[in-house]
Amino acid sequence: MDIIKVIETLKHKGYTVSYFENKEDAAVYLNNIIDNKSVGFGDSATLLGMKLFERLSSHNEIFDPQHCPIGMNFIDTAKKSLTTKVFLTSVNALSETGEIVNIDGTGNRVAGALFGHEKVYFVTGSNKIVPTLEDAIWRARNIVAPQNAMRLQLRTPCAKKGERCYDCSSPDRICNGMMIHFKKMNDIDMEIVLINERLGF
Ligand code: SF4
Repeated sequence: MDIIKVIETLKHKGYTVSYFENKEDAAVYLNNIIDNKSVGFGDSATLLGMKLFERLSSHNEIFDPQHCPIGMNFIDTAKKSLTTKVFLTSVNALSETGEIVNIDGTGNRVAGALFGHEKVYFVTGSNKIVPTLEDAIWRARNIVAPQNAMRLQLRTPCAKKGERCYDCSSPDRICNGMMIHFKKMNDIDMEIVLINERLGF
């Protein structure tokens, strides 16, 4: 995989791309440029691993459904995260041809990356990069979703081992909608923070 070529492809699709060798440098970068803003989070093992909630919450107003403010539940917090100036999320997969794929169960994560914010950041490790859009869809469905179900201890067949999708009918199913970003959305500044490390699933 030629990372320079991937970055150029993403730039041609309208994204700003920032590249870091490790997650610490990327976290410092984000903590410096996101200041005194309202910030929404999409659920992400990558963001959790970078401790971005802990870093940003001291100087921004944060709405992260994984860290609900006192008196607010998941849905309350997720709704607030859709009306912030900045939205942070990750990707399930990124193709070398420049498409971003995300699957969601509740919808707040994919909705937040589509409309309403001044700036959206997709923060991702290079392990999410696969050759084609078809590979990206397969990765999202068969690697990321089962691993996330296991992380969240859901009552789905994939959560036992996190090894594959069973296309379940569980009430806990997290694969209800899939978003493919072919290019940057209109009228939103969108930045991909690409990190040359294995992050998330
Ligand atoms: S459809 Fe069901 S079994 Fe498949 S990954 Fe999603 S939650 Fe797991």
